[in-house]
Amino acid sequence: MPIKYSQEMSRSKVLLIYTGGTIGMQKKYGESNLSPFDFDGVLERMPEMRELNCDVEFEITGEPIDSSDMHPGKWVEIASIVRDRYSEFDGFVVLHGSDTMAYSASALSFLLENLSKPVVLTGSQLPIGVTRTDARENLLTSIEIAAHKNPDGTASVSEVCIYFEYHLLRGNRTHKFHSEHFEAIRSPNYPPLMEAGVHLNFYHPYIAVPNADALITHSNMGSDIQVLKLFPGMPLTNIEALLTVSNMKVLLLETYGSGNAPTDQKFLDLLKRFIDNGTHVLNISQCPAGSVDQGKYKASKGLEELGLLSGGDMTFESALTKSMFLLGQNPTHEEFEIAFLKNLSGERSA
Ligand code: ASP
Repeated sequence: MPIKYSQEMSRSKVLLIYTGGTIGMQKKYGESNLSPFDFDGVLERMPEMRELNCDVEFEITGEPIDSSDMHPGKWVEIASIVRDRYSEFDGFVVLHGSDTMAYSASALSFLLENLSKPVVLTGSQLPIGVTRTDARENLLTSIEIAAHKNPDGTASVSEVCIYFEYHLLRGNRTHKFHSEHFEAIRSPNYPPLMEAGVHLNFYHPYIAVPNADALITHSNMGSDIQVLKLFPGMPLTNIEALLTVSNMKVLLLETYGSGNAPTDQKFLDLLKRFIDNGTHVLNISQCPAGSVDQGKYKASKGLEELGLLSGGDMTFESALTKSMFLLGQNPTHEEFEIAFLKNLSGERSA
């Protein structure tokens, strides 16, 4: 049974971290282009924020960026802001463009270990200052979620998540699904953590159990990764060209269906050369929903025999940022394999 939101909670403190994206833009009357919203004046422009039963402070990570310019350095910066201000606040809201929000939420879920407080990423499809915007609802409800407590005083959510269009989703299970609809972000392989209607209905069986250990923040991300998306008729020379890339530690192969690929021996021999070179070859499906099941079909048996690492039901974004995170730990070959196949932060079903 979902637990209903109660107004009788003690006053919480929420830190709003603004990185950029459409949500922070406004269209001034009579002007055709968008300019960054002045968050210093947000309480005057959004008096509804005063109605929330919590105190909100702001922190801005440099010049606001379109999330197409997001990069691992910024993820590490966001993680270190959360670390530095962790004891002061009950929850964190990160304002972020929706285009790469799923990458950032996935990356943060690995960089922030042992969370016992919520880190909610949100954004919008329309700027905060335009008519019919989705920004106000997304922002106000994200703050409510970040401030929300269980009756015993613990945080209702203690993981990195995305709130968009009435749904709270586990961050490392999401991907951007639509470039125009307000329901822009989906979590095809994991149910919502909460739905907002008249009440905030938290689905506790799906929410991560808070970790009693001290927060650990990581600060290294590797980048020696290449991505190869299969398509029918792909020339083998495309794959041969990748073999000449130096220092490639991970090749993320985007396969078909439940992890299938051509059975052509020449193709398999090329993949074997990556593995012989010490590159981890990951099997991630092009299907947004469902799971890789190596060996289910003959078309994936060869991949299993070669030793490709199954991505299971991880999203592309999660598999990629998990690889960056693991490479940042300087693992041995075996340590990488064990950790990639393990569920570290709710990103894959066991
Ligand atoms: N291009 C924008 C961004 O991702 C779109 C958005 O904010 O939703 O920063």
